[in-house]
Amino acid sequence: MFDSLSDRLGGVFDKLRGRGALKEQDVRDAMREVRIALLEADVALPVVRRFVDRVTEKAIGQSVLRSVTPGQQVVKIVNDELIETLGGDVTPELDLAASPPVVIMMVGLQGSGKTTSTAKISKLLKDKQGKKVMMASLDVNRPAAQEQLKVLGEQTGVATLPIIAGQQPTEIATRAMQAAKLQAVDVLMLDTAGRLHVDQQLMDEMKAVAAIATPRETLLVVDSLTGQDAVNVAQSFAGEVDLTGVVLTRMDGDARGGAALSMRAVTGKPIKFAGTGEKMDAIEVFHPSRVANRILGMGDIVSMVEKAAEAVKVEEAEELAKRMEQGKFDLNDLRTQLRQMQNMGGLGMLAGMMPGMKKAKAAMAASNMDDKVLLRMEAIIGSMTKKERANPALLNAKRKIRVANGSGTQVQDVNKVLKMHQEMSKAMKQIKKMGGLKGLAAMFG
Ligand code: GDP
Ligand code: MG
Repeated sequence: MFDSLSDRLGGVFDKLRGRGALKEQDVRDAMREVRIALLEADVALPVVRRFVDRVTEKAIGQSVLRSVTPGQQVVKIVNDELIETLGGDVTPELDLAASPPVVIMMVGLQGSGKTTSTAKISKLLKDKQGKKVMMASLDVNRPAAQEQLKVLGEQTGVATLPIIAGQQPTEIATRAMQAAKLQAVDVLMLDTAGRLHVDQQLMDEMKAVAAIATPRETLLVVDSLTGQDAVNVAQSFAGEVDLTGVVLTRMDGDARGGAALSMRAVTGKPIKFAGTGEKMDAIEVFHPSRVANRILGMGDIVSMVEKAAEAVKVEEAEELAKRMEQGKFDLNDLRTQLRQMQNMGGLGMLAGMMPGMKKAKAAMAASNMDDKVLLRMEAIIGSMTKKERANPALLNAKRKIRVANGSGTQVQDVNKVLKMHQEMSKAMKQIKKMGGLKGLAAMFG
């Protein structure tokens, strides 16, 4: 899967050898090739542009972690941006929060995999979530379409609406709603008709069905092998109906990965499922990070860079602990610490480092010291000069006003930060008196 894109990207980063900070020219050279690789993989041009711009911006000037090469570090940045473009680090789920029968309407062009995906998702809901599911085919254009869904229903053990010849899609939708209510069905899957091309009749039919069934989810099914075409199709559908998500089919084929990358950006809707074959269980919940990994094909480098970054954080924390022990703790240190708190998922850092600080952490949490406060404090300290940070006594009334203005806060907020720093350095001195962290550990341990 996605071999070609990952092959194309593969060579790019090898050229970023050497060490030190990421140099602008090196990054730009690498990005030129990333750009070509993405375009060749049929990713939509605006998506490519934004992607490259964001990676460039993040990469230039970033200092390279000690145990990795610049190339490896750029791989990580590209990987993160791929995940972001694919929808972020979340796994979108089907929204079934409505009174039953919850309707899921499947739309898309003929041959995109609507009927197959309808049956696959129904099977998932039945087997994995214990839902009572019914499927109905509204495809009256192709003679065998309704029959096809019936066969898949028998295969998967999902009920299908009995076929009545000669009915229009809206009539079938009405009948399906009634039957689903009568039979206390949890989820009703509507498989709509497709055309070979987007046309107004198709759109009107879809809208009429949506008006009757008020779907909770309207999933656009697109064939990932069609690349740029898939993007055009997605744009047309998104302009006509309220899509809630995308199903990308044929991800098992020789897809270049372009459709997956473009789809989220173009529709603004999450990719919820990926079809990976013709069999009824060949469907996966769409995991952006896994797909990014497959596109890039460099998962081991990514985790190596993550570990290196983690190690640096630990070193910094140890360095800070040493300074605290020595009773040196200026606003520069406070800022480092605020950053670490954010990196380490909020206010957990001190608590983890020093025994007895669990109480302090609880008190901070109780006083509503959430991460937004951390960010504001960091902005305040960031608006001070280096000298002021090293020697807070310099901060007279005039300087405080400047800092408040610079950080978009009030002088009283600046005072709060200074007060907190005072309290903390007092505590640090206490700790020193008690024999440093070890002494403290002995006391609380
Ligand atoms: P529809 O016209 O949109 O309803 O498309 P169908 O569901 O009838 O699918 C058309 C063809 O694509 C069928 O032969 C399916 O077996 C095949 N197909 C659908 N999804 C996938 C997929 O994820 N991978 C592969 N390899 N084939 C698929
Ligand atoms: Mg069909």
